[in-house]
Amino acid sequence: MRDIVGVMLHVLVSDAGQVLDPNVPLLHADDLGVLHGDGLFETMLMRDGLVRNLERHIDRLATSTAPAGLPPIDIAHVAELIEIAATEWRRRFDGEGALRVVYTRGREGGDRPTLYVTVSAVPSRVAEVRRDGIRAVTLPTAYRPGLAAEAPWLLAGVKSLSYAANVAALRHVQGLGVDDAIFVADDGSVLEGPRSSVVAVIEGVLVTPLRDDGILPGTTQAELFAHARTRGIPVDERRLHVDELFSAAEVWLLSSITVAARVHRLNGQDLPNQRKVIGVAAMLGVPPMS
Ligand code: PLP
Repeated sequence: MRDIVGVMLHVLVSDAGQVLDPNVPLLHADDLGVLHGDGLFETMLMRDGLVRNLERHIDRLATSTAPAGLPPIDIAHVAELIEIAATEWRRRFDGEGALRVVYTRGREGGDRPTLYVTVSAVPSRVAEVRRDGIRAVTLPTAYRPGLAAEAPWLLAGVKSLSYAANVAALRHVQGLGVDDAIFVADDGSVLEGPRSSVVAVIEGVLVTPLRDDGILPGTTQAELFAHARTRGIPVDERRLHVDELFSAAEVWLLSSITVAARVHRLNGQDLPNQRKVIGVAAMLGVPPMS
């Protein structure tokens, strides 16, 4: 990979499709994305010059505008901005990049949403957790099954810019000396990680929690289940109790940038079975944990 140490942000493309200097400020001080976290984003992995799961990401952005009360996106325009950013990244670098689309409500009192695309270097922790797996702890939340449908203003299941609580959860667990977290609802149902979907292998079945319980429908989890279906591996989306994770054959946190990180320790307990039952990482094209 050509040298990209130093600044993390390397490519910035405006709504008008211009490639801008990423070190020059772009937003207005009263952008509601900044003031309220009022907007949506998508983060995609650029690998081997391609944007992984492009259609799934654009679909999720397009279907999130209505629950977030934002104007619909112009799908072709967003795809074009992504292509401009990806081309610029490819022209300058050949390693993995994190491509982000940001779509906010725009300026306070204004009537135009803000849209831009960036590409940054992938943090070095990513290669480590793909290779070595992670230690995680479960964290309680006030969620209960059914709440997401009763309280749509919580924007559960929407990739909203309001991520302060998610990153606070990550800081909290890092303070405990572990790598990541798994949110659990008040009835013990597994929800998701602050930046990942949970998938467990239970009796040969790939199981992920019910998206109706207010979790983000993960593009990586969708990709994994699509690969599994073509290979005849059974998949299930169902309520998953936290106790089941301790006896599962494999527990994974999946996300666009890390792709797949195996959980080898949960709440201070080694997960019992470290053998690989289903080639989750291989199906997603990342090297399995050694
Ligand atoms: N759940 C949450 C809360 C996330 O933030 C993410 C990704 O950032 C995911 C799940 C995984 O989604 P994806 O695989 O589309 O990256």
